[in-house]
Amino acid sequence: MSNSLSVVEPKSLAHVRHWVFDLDNTLHPADATLWDAVGARMTDYVARLTGLPHAEAEALQERYLLDYGATVVGLVQHHDADATDFMDYVHDVPMLELDANPGLRAAIGSLPGKSYVFTNGGKDYAARLLRRLDLLDLFDAVFDLQTAGFAAKPHDRAFTRFLEMTGVDAARAAMFEDTPRNLEAAARFGFSTVLVRHAEGGDHRVSPRLPYVDFETWDLEAFLRGAA
Ligand SMILES: [Mg+2]
Repeated sequence: MSNSLSVVEPKSLAHVRHWVFDLDNTLHPADATLWDAVGARMTDYVARLTGLPHAEAEALQERYLLDYGATVVGLVQHHDADATDFMDYVHDVPMLELDANPGLRAAIGSLPGKSYVFTNGGKDYAARLLRRLDLLDLFDAVFDLQTAGFAAKPHDRAFTRFLEMTGVDAARAAMFEDTPRNLEAAARFGFSTVLVRHAEGGDHRVSPRLPYVDFETWDLEAFLRGAA
C-alpha cells in the first residue's frame, strides 16, 4: 500500500463451507427446565460418588465444568468415575419442553457445504436431543464428548480432535456457540465465530463486544437464512 491507511474488510461468512454448531442452548432456546434437571442429577451423582454434602458436591461439579469444560472429565481424572455410567444417569431427563423448529431445519439444510455438531454432551444424549429437534439427519457428523475421547471445549485437544476426525478446515469454517469461552478457542484455531444468544423473558441484555466474536445473533434461524 502506498499510504498508511489500511482497509479493514467487512467480516463475511461467504468463504464458509463447514458449519459447526454447538448443541445445548445453541440449536434450541435456553431451556431452564432441561438444564436444571441435568444439573440436579449431576449433583446427586457427584454427592454419591464423593460422599460430599450436597452443597460441596455442587461446588465441585461447577469447578470441574470450569476447569475441564465438562464435569465428567474431572470426575474421571480425580475420582475414577465410570464416564458412561455418569452420562447415562445425568442425561436421563425428559425433553418435553423442546419442540422441532421447521424454520431452523430449513435454514441449516440450505447452507452451502457441510454441517456438524460439536458438543460437550454425551453421544446418546446428543442423538436423542437432535432427534427431538428433528435435526439429526442434517449433520455430516455429531462430534460428542465420547467421540472426543473426553476432551471438552474450550480445550485445545477437543478442537484438534474435532478437526482431525471430521476433516473440517477451520479457515473455511464457522462455529456457532452460546458459550463465549468456546468461541475464544475456536477463533484461535481459525474459525469464524458466531455468538448465539437467546432472549430470556424478552430481556435483550446488551453484552460487551468480545474481540474474538465475529458475529452475534439473537435469531439463529434468520442469521442462517442471511448467510445462505
Ligand atoms: Mg451450549
